[in-house]
Amino acid sequence: MATEDLERRIRTCKLCRLHSSRKNAVPGEGPLDAKILFCGEAPGFNEDVQGRPFVGAAGKFLDELLQVAGLKREDVYIANVVKCRPPENRAPLDDEVETCTTNYLQKQVSMIKPKLVVAMGRVSARALLGRPVVMGEERGKLLDWTYAGAKFKLYLTYHPAAALYGAEAKQKLLADFKSLGNTVIKL
Ligand code: URA
Repeated sequence: MATEDLERRIRTCKLCRLHSSRKNAVPGEGPLDAKILFCGEAPGFNEDVQGRPFVGAAGKFLDELLQVAGLKREDVYIANVVKCRPPENRAPLDDEVETCTTNYLQKQVSMIKPKLVVAMGRVSARALLGRPVVMGEERGKLLDWTYAGAKFKLYLTYHPAAALYGAEAKQKLLADFKSLGNTVIKL
């Protein structure tokens, strides 16, 4: 399937209940040959309005984190586990994650074939690893991983929004993205 077809399918998707409350689906954005794919959880208010990932407060901090890692936003692909905003920003339900990853995230990963995927937050880590993750215990891990037939390094860290709720999480994210910068150099 061509990437434009996939994007169009996502924008018009009605496979789960989230389509009925969304303004815009958010397929993700970035170069289709990006070496690094960042995966968040689901669009929030601003992303739903604009149809673009990480454009609100968490996105602003993600931009800062990318700088810390020595990366430019335009050089990486930014996606989410779930492409439509859950009402009131609730966590996506298991069946929503299942439907959206089977139909879309898996296809994105197998098309882009990134060398490194950064799972931001436990919803993303759980979807990619296929098991529950306590991020406080596993953050900073760099794993050799296979997902949707693609092999890559998988890096686990907090969701950038965690920094909006606490200075400690912010410091940990900054440290994780600094260490991510060292991994990126070796790609
Ligand atoms: N949080 C996410 O997980 N994704 C976005 O795109 C924005 C906020």
